[in-house]
This record gives sequence, structure tokens and C-alpha cells, in this order.
Amino acid sequence: MSHDFKLARERMVKNQLASRGVADEGVLQAMGKTPRHLFISEALAGEAYNDHPVPIGEKQTISQPYIVALMTEALELKGKENTLEIGTGSGYQTAILAELSSRVYTVERIKSLLVDARKLLAQLGYSNVLFKAFDGTLGWKEYAPFDAIMVTAGAPGLPEPLIDQLADNGRMIIPIGDRYTQELIKVTKKGEHIEQESFGGCRFVNLIGIHGWKD
Ligand code: SAH
Repeated sequence: MSHDFKLARERMVKNQLASRGVADEGVLQAMGKTPRHLFISEALAGEAYNDHPVPIGEKQTISQPYIVALMTEALELKGKENTLEIGTGSGYQTAILAELSSRVYTVERIKSLLVDARKLLAQLGYSNVLFKAFDGTLGWKEYAPFDAIMVTAGAPGLPEPLIDQLADNGRMIIPIGDRYTQELIKVTKKGEHIEQESFGGCRFVNLIGIHGWKD
């Protein structure tokens, strides 16, 4: 069984990521070794390496592998970063960030998801992740500034606290749009200014909070 998952994972990296232009070796390696099927309920584990998002309970989803790769690559992680993630969900994206950063600070508003993700990541041996059940649109002030920020839920606009907590030359990737479709926006902080670049269309669950959707 685990052999089947390994094969499915290798195919995913080749056919969904590398062939679509994901070139960052670190990202391909991290996704090539992380057991994505463990982040999904057993009933749906067979879909773990398919080319689509999968439900993880609480009306939330684990992102499609290609979107995880695209967003991670956009952060240009070299291994020394303090990285903030908003929307822990299953913890799969957290694991990928933890492979490529020095430390990951992850925030999730639904406590039960956070508890499960924390448990699984501990079992898998990750010791460089800090978790918090909170409204992530407020960031995590105590540990700011962050070299990289990833938001894995769709926002109506750029949350001001996250821009404030981004380090100089820091990168943030965030889906911005309406409740149903968004555009992946990469924000780079340059002194007092920010640069924005689009990474294409996407569809995420809503970012709910003070600087997000109201509910
Ligand atoms: N990265 C996740 C995807 C999770 S889906 C994974 O790999 O599984 C998006 C998550 O964002 C959901 O779990 C949702 O509860 C969470 N979320 C939405 N608004 C939030 C907020 N303001 N702060 C923290 N988490 C939030």
C-alpha cells in the first residue's frame, strides 16, 4: 500500500508539477517525500495524489498539489526564512514550508483542524513549527517580521497587518478576489513600497476574520 502511495507521489511530481513548469528543486523534493495521503481521512486517501483539492472536514479543503507547489515556489525559500502561514488546515502545506524554511509559524481559526495538524506534524518529526488557533488576518505580531507569508484562504483584499509584518524584501503569496474565485497575488515588500505580481486564477475557501470576509 505505502508502495502505491510512493509511486502515486512520484507521478504527481512529474506529471502535475515538473511538466507544468515548477522548477524549484527544493519544492519538488519536499513534495516528492511528504506523505500527503496521511493529511487526508482514510476514506479519501486514495485521492491524495490526484490533480484536485480534497475535503478535510469543517467544510475546508487541502489544496490541489499544483497550487501548493506554485505558491511555495513563489516564496523563493532558501532554508533560512521565518515563514508565516495563515490557514493550517490539514497541515500539508505547513509540512512543505517546514522542509524549506528555518521556522514556520502557522495560524488556523478552526481549533479542531489545528489540533489534528499539530499532532500529525509532531508524529512526522517536525520540530520547527509553532501553531496558534487565532484569526490569522491579524498575523502573529510577536514573531514578526516574516521573510515569507503564505495565505491559503481567499481574501477580499490585502490584510494590512500582514503587509506590516512582512520583512523588507519579504514575499507574500495570497489569493485575492470575491468569495468564489480569486487571483494568486505575490506581494514583495521594498522599503515603504510593495510590488504586486499575478500568478493566475484560483479557487480557495474564504479567509474569515477582521481583515477578511465577515463570515
Ligand atoms: N493549507 C491547507 C489548506 C487549508 S484550507 C492545507 O494544506 O490543508 C484554508 C484554511 O484556512 C481552512 O482550514 C480555514 O479554516 C482557514 N482559515 C480561514 N480563515 C482564517 C483566518 N482568518 N485565520 C486562520 N485560518 C483561517
